[in-house]
Amino acid sequence: PTAETSPAGSGKEPHGAISLTHPGRVYWPDAGITKQDLADYYAIVWPRITPFIVDRPLALLRCPEGIGGPRFFQKNTWKGMNAHILTLNDPTENADAHLIGIHDFDGLMGLVQSATLEIHPWGASPDDWEKPDELIIDLDPGDGVGWEAIVTAAREVRKRLSLFGLAAFAKTSGGKGLHVVVPLKPEADWDMAKSFSQTLAREMASDSPERYVATISKAKRHGKILLDYLRNQRGATSVAPYSTRARAGAPISMPVAWTELDSLTGAAQFTVSDILERPASFHTDPWKDFNTARRPITAAMLSTDHS
Ligand code: ATP
Ligand code: MN
Ligand code: MN
Repeated sequence: PTAETSPAGSGKEPHGAISLTHPGRVYWPDAGITKQDLADYYAIVWPRITPFIVDRPLALLRCPEGIGGPRFFQKNTWKGMNAHILTLNDPTENADAHLIGIHDFDGLMGLVQSATLEIHPWGASPDDWEKPDELIIDLDPGDGVGWEAIVTAAREVRKRLSLFGLAAFAKTSGGKGLHVVVPLKPEADWDMAKSFSQTLAREMASDSPERYVATISKAKRHGKILLDYLRNQRGATSVAPYSTRARAGAPISMPVAWTELDSLTGAAQFTVSDILERPASFHTDPWKDFNTARRPITAAMLSTDHS
């Protein structure tokens, strides 16, 4: 995967090898964002999104008629799939369950051509299907939870992770909450990753039961934040950094610096239009240390009692 092959800039010319059909089709009517705009957006963010979506299984939210029409959450390859989209074979699944992947910029344009309005990668790559290379704690605010409380929760997750020497990066979901993402050296397996994140969520919830819950079934979420750790299991997906969301306003899941969090107004603040109108606002990468910050989850981290 090479970012250099990305034809940068925005315009009405095709990007890469793919000529879009129906480039003027409107995908987000309220924001006036077309299929061509979506391609232009991904041409701009391609260098940033590459490590998160290239060469790993992807689930796609496809909306052929835009956000107001039917939607398909697609986990497997399909008949007539664009030739630049790849088939990945999960070694433990039967041969019929082909997963979706891309290897280059044309692959991403293939996703746009296929009306992909959200890209949801796995937290592991086919280099080792059994060992996640990131963890995600998904902060889901219940009714009545304000933005500051979500930011506070993200900071607390970060602090708890730091006690294990693990780094944490924040992004808006493009919906309601924040995602705290941990870059991992892929050494621990899915069971360990899930167990680690479950313990972290449970401890946080038992220390502040008035603010947090760690299980969906502990319903009564009004006023509380669900610390959703269930993204950290084999085959689970979460929206990619820089992916667009099939929601009103054409929001994106935007990586942010920890220092930036307090000044944000909400999880859907950043939109496709912001990036198309001000691509230069994009110069500093708040996640530039993501790759070098990778550390492993170890057995010792699971056995320690932190309460
Ligand atoms: P929010 O901040 O609003 O919670 P989010 O991205 O955290 O945004 P959702 O968009 O509700 O939350 O996604 C929930 C999870 O379920 C994601 O991990 C996604 O990959 C997965 N998912 C989304 N749609 C489907 C679907 N139709 N079928 C199965 N899994 C899905
Ligand atoms: Mn969420
Ligand atoms: Mn969730």
